[in-house]
Amino acid sequence: MNLASHYVCDDCHARTPADVPALLCDACGGLLEMAYDLTRVPARDILARAAEHREIGVWRWADLLPVPEGTEPLYLGEGDTPLLTTRRLGETLNIPNLMIKNDTLMPTGSFKDRGFAIAVGYARALGVKQAFTYSSGNAGASFATYAARAGIDATVLVEDSAHESKIAAIGLYGARVLRLQYRSSLEIFASVSALTRAGLYSFVNFINPIRHEGMKTYAYEICEALGWKAPDVMVHPVGTGGGLWGAWKGFRELRQMGVIDRLPRMIGVQPSASAPIVRAFNEGLPSAAPHGDATRTVAQSIAGDAPIQGGTRVLSAIYASGGRAVAVDDGDLFEAMRLLGAEGVTAEPSAAASVAALLRARSQGWVSENDTVVAVITGSGQKQPDVLVRAAPPPAGDVRADPDELLKWFGDRMDNGR
Ligand SMILES: [Zn+2]
Repeated sequence: MNLASHYVCDDCHARTPADVPALLCDACGGLLEMAYDLTRVPARDILARAAEHREIGVWRWADLLPVPEGTEPLYLGEGDTPLLTTRRLGETLNIPNLMIKNDTLMPTGSFKDRGFAIAVGYARALGVKQAFTYSSGNAGASFATYAARAGIDATVLVEDSAHESKIAAIGLYGARVLRLQYRSSLEIFASVSALTRAGLYSFVNFINPIRHEGMKTYAYEICEALGWKAPDVMVHPVGTGGGLWGAWKGFRELRQMGVIDRLPRMIGVQPSASAPIVRAFNEGLPSAAPHGDATRTVAQSIAGDAPIQGGTRVLSAIYASGGRAVAVDDGDLFEAMRLLGAEGVTAEPSAAASVAALLRARSQGWVSENDTVVAVITGSGQKQPDVLVRAAPPPAGDVRADPDELLKWFGDRMDNGR
């Protein structure tokens, strides 16, 4: 099992062996986290091995992931997405060292593939045959894809507000879809916890202790691209917070290994219509109470009124890193989508939240112009085509396909200064 040694419970600290497909703590029901023996192999050997195997994306970091020995990578092209230097965007925000981690280019168009590739690979290696998750869309598509590749019977509980194209993708990738009616996310968590306790293997964020392990690969890829340095700031949209928390764990492990010498400030972003984590952060609380109305924002992928387990993990990462939680309005999201479009990145509104948060950072002074900032763009705008239409400027005009009319239209707009 490489360097993975055992699971530890967040609450009672009981240990569970790493090679059983555990979900919640047997003793108290708490969340489990995988622990590693990071000193067993010199860090330079791990990094060298990873550098030699770029053809397998996130799987090249198998030493630092719970990948059982002999596991065949479920590789579909996940990982090693571009870390783009921005052009106009950095200037507009007055953050010259702003970079975009473009995870819209993942196999299913979202960052979820980092986690599901590893988590489904782990489950298959340990003999899991049937499993479920719940999703607002992106996670379901990712789970369906990797489960199909792994031959695992997959059911996805989908929020009934999910875009029909996201629901269709889940079915296309071969999973069974159950559309969920609910009043609050609390009802969803009570239901998925009951299924888990009844013995069904769950891929729900945090209940499943492997998905966020795959998200650690953010930290590895970003630090490698920066010459084994962490950025000053990492900005990540937050629904349940698996991406932010996983990346934070990856950064911490790199520091423990002596590969980097300091950690980034983690900034989590939520839509102001439902921002339980932001409200808890503003009040300095360790966990978040239900808040807001998740149907009143276009940021569907991160709209949840009640984070799982009160969002304790994501809040602890934000506090420990000296970061912050930020709420953004739909208007900010549309502007951020246009700014990203001009950089060649098609972001869904939830993904554009990273840049929307930085629009506020400029005016409020919590990012300096000397900071190296990585904004993660988590999902493709092609999944919410109706919102792309709302964000984009309308056509400049209607004109007949007639040379004279077109020449007239261009008229003064013609640039003859070749
Ligand atoms: Zn426990």
